[in-house]
Amino acid sequence: MQIRTHLTMLVRINSLIFWFGLSIICEAQYKRLELVLATPNKAIFGPDISQFYMYTNRSFEGQPSKPWQGGKYGYVRNPKRTTSGIIYSKFHEGVDIRPIERNSRGVPLDKVCSIASGKVMHTSRSAGASNYGRYVVIEHDWGYGKFYSLYAHLADISCTVGQSVRPGTSIATLGYTGDGIDRTRAHLHLELNLMISRNFERWYRRHYVAPNKHGLYNGINLAGIDISGLYKEHQKNPSITLPQFIKKTKPYWKLLVPNKGMPLIMKSYPWLAKNMADATNNPSWEITMSRSGIPLSISPHNKKVSSPTINWVDYSATPHSWNTRSRLTGNKDKAKLTAIGLRFVQLLMEK
Ligand SMILES: [Zn+2]
Repeated sequence: MQIRTHLTMLVRINSLIFWFGLSIICEAQYKRLELVLATPNKAIFGPDISQFYMYTNRSFEGQPSKPWQGGKYGYVRNPKRTTSGIIYSKFHEGVDIRPIERNSRGVPLDKVCSIASGKVMHTSRSAGASNYGRYVVIEHDWGYGKFYSLYAHLADISCTVGQSVRPGTSIATLGYTGDGIDRTRAHLHLELNLMISRNFERWYRRHYVAPNKHGLYNGINLAGIDISGLYKEHQKNPSITLPQFIKKTKPYWKLLVPNKGMPLIMKSYPWLAKNMADATNNPSWEITMSRSGIPLSISPHNKKVSSPTINWVDYSATPHSWNTRSRLTGNKDKAKLTAIGLRFVQLLMEK
């Protein structure tokens, strides 16, 4: 019994040393976030940010409009009138950046640049192969797990897979390829993402019939962080790191999953780990999620669950499905995973 206690303590101490050691090593190796804008449009830092964004075509209660706010990141689309005012139920995972230069026929001329140092991982050159139209994905490594910037609706692509890029390296021309865009609404859709799973393909094959043309760089496997918020934070504090920025996001739900070993995503993003001193034979992991589905932290938990279970949800007077991209159902302080939600959790937990 005593030996077991000692062993348990040893394991606990070891895991503590491991995690503290890892976090010290990681933080010492954090690189400065050198972030630049992706096109010549700099209005995000100017007095009129409406000039940064491309509008969306909206029809609400019979009224057509062209709100620039529809180009922002976040829940900015599909308005619904509720007793507590108008809320937006459709999530936009990036920003839609308006072109600033067009030729006499209205074709945009803006060059698209890499927002930071990195390596080109994916170029999708066939306009019809994705809702993104022609798109590029660049991998960035600032020392806290890999992040992926994505540039969509491009007219043409001038970079190649494997190419190293610097902040501001030209990679493409802004365009209007992809679903639901025409020349007047030409824009750059820009995202900065976490990768949900390194084993995306296996999960994809279980759920889809059509072949995956984009490998790990399929939009389903990339979770976009608040890139406009990051630009503004970075301008105020150039030494900010992405873990610091992401951890400021408000939690919306917490999920318990059975402990079948450390989730892969914790290895990809070690800063997600919290309270690791308690990680000894913990029957479950608790994952804290944002409204849009960005994991914010993962900690060991003592409650035993046989399948993924919602452990907490933020109070909402409107249906949780509107706030969570249909991953949860229910309202007020009650929520359950939907079939869509369960599939998302399966991807998140993919081994
Ligand atoms: Zn967009």
